[in-house]
Amino acid sequence: MAEAKEVILRGLPISKGIGIGMPIFFAGVDEDSPQVTISKKEIEEEIIRYRRALDLSRKDLEKLQSMSIQEGPPEIVAILGTHLEMMQDPLMTSGIEERIRETLQNTESIFRHLIEEYKQRFNSLQDAYFQERVRDIVDVSQRILGHLRPLQRLKMGEMPSNSIILTHELVPSETVEASATLVSAFVTAAGGITSHAAIIARAKGIPYVANVDIKLLKKLELQSVIVDGSQGIVIVNPSRKTLKKYQELKKGHLESYKMLKSASHLKGETIDGYEVRIFANLENPKEIDLLIKNGASGVGLFRSEYLFLSRKSFPTEEEQFQIYKRMAKALRGRPLVIRTFDIGGDKKVDLLPDARGIDYFGSIGDELNPALGCRAIRFLLRYPELLEAQLRAILRASAFGEIHILIPMVSDLGELREVRQLIAKIQKDLKGKKIKTADHIPVGCMIEVPSSAIMCDALAQEADFLSIGTNDLVQYVLAADRSNPSTSDLYFSTHPSILRLIRMVVASANQSRKPVILCGETAADPSIIPILIGLGIREFSVAARHIPVVKHTIRKWRILEACRLAEGALEHASAQELKEYLAAETVR
Ligand code: PEP
Ligand code: MG
Repeated sequence: MAEAKEVILRGLPISKGIGIGMPIFFAGVDEDSPQVTISKKEIEEEIIRYRRALDLSRKDLEKLQSMSIQEGPPEIVAILGTHLEMMQDPLMTSGIEERIRETLQNTESIFRHLIEEYKQRFNSLQDAYFQERVRDIVDVSQRILGHLRPLQRLKMGEMPSNSIILTHELVPSETVEASATLVSAFVTAAGGITSHAAIIARAKGIPYVANVDIKLLKKLELQSVIVDGSQGIVIVNPSRKTLKKYQELKKGHLESYKMLKSASHLKGETIDGYEVRIFANLENPKEIDLLIKNGASGVGLFRSEYLFLSRKSFPTEEEQFQIYKRMAKALRGRPLVIRTFDIGGDKKVDLLPDARGIDYFGSIGDELNPALGCRAIRFLLRYPELLEAQLRAILRASAFGEIHILIPMVSDLGELREVRQLIAKIQKDLKGKKIKTADHIPVGCMIEVPSSAIMCDALAQEADFLSIGTNDLVQYVLAADRSNPSTSDLYFSTHPSILRLIRMVVASANQSRKPVILCGETAADPSIIPILIGLGIREFSVAARHIPVVKHTIRKWRILEACRLAEGALEHASAQELKEYLAAETVR
């Protein structure tokens, strides 16, 4: 093949490192299905594709139905039965095939129109029956569309090696399935610096650039791609000279990371001997060995919602108990902070109604502003049975290690009190049943909403520990969406307001003699770490992969220098001034 022209695109740097590989356009779950016109010759092939998808969808439903017959109430069995009948209806069988023949549109296109037709016909009618029918048709269509996706066989976890994934947007459940040995880089149109997908990409060490025109990339003849995640550059069809330059850069990065890693068993301490404890943020329970190898003092934040982001149902109490118990044992005495499900916001999942027919997310509906909506502890308090199952599992597992409970997105002291009451009730119940738990299980609050930062003195008095989540705190304090590339220039992790709030939280925690840990992405940024130490943070939690870099940075500073740096920083009132001050003062 002739050498295609080198093209350089600039985007938003999200995850550092160099990725070199073959481009793959990945159709995400939420992306619109491709709607194309087919030729007459392709009709039969399209019909076969449709029949296969319909068949797979029927099998899904039959499986679900037989599971529900054993466990679920009759209502859910009935709904599944209706969906199965719909799939046998001539509207879905010969009707769709006829439409393919007549309109020469692909199946995705036909289903999009069908859904629209139904919505227009019935949505204006307020009758609950008709609303339900629209839901049914959407549900059935989505299931079929899911089996139609052209890249369906190509799951994120099964990419060919050296893949450069090009997609509109990454969602956390897909990103978490990607393997760093197969995926060389991500390039997306949407996505912000501290979106959950970005956090996962960094934790896995997969370079990532967002805010790139994917539609433009689709028009180019792509042979190979280089992604420079540190500079936010995507190079399409690199010349030999460019390729050589980046291969060397990549080698250099790998070597310096290896060197840092070889020192990760050392303590996180400043030159003058102040210890800063480094814990790990964890999404996948299987990675406990890695965090121990990388020198973590324990798990500072287990994002427990990842247990079900890529499945269709909440894990049961027993499933959770087994997982938490295994984790606690594997940590051999090191603490395990389990954050209760932080679901909602950018982590909405496509859950099926549970055995009692409760459609958790369906009942919340499409929120105009999900980050300010029914997320995290708000969601769990709305469905206390889910919270109770999780807390029971945690309490039962607490007999096997040092487990702490962390509540996400606390915006009022009342939420902490409600959780404590529920814990006390469960503990009493377990005791009555002679089920062992730890005598004391510390309960902490995430400080990631302005109200909790402002009220940190009251929270510090009643909580056993505080955990500052800067990813959300920055988003909510500065009103800058963490997932939106167009607000990335407003999302200042070191905004003066953030530094003041961190100082306040540390002061309140110290006054109440409660530990405070910082677990947002800023904890892994070598240019911010010294200032955080200077503000009094003595515990960080970062992705296991970042621990060597964090320790290396801490070991280059004296506590007095860090305090002076923080004092100087607090004198700056504008974000830009502060940025310039830090750039000049933190280089080592
Ligand atoms: C945070 O908000 O800083 C945090 C650690 O939680 P998450 O990134 O999971 O929202
Ligand atoms: Mg958060």
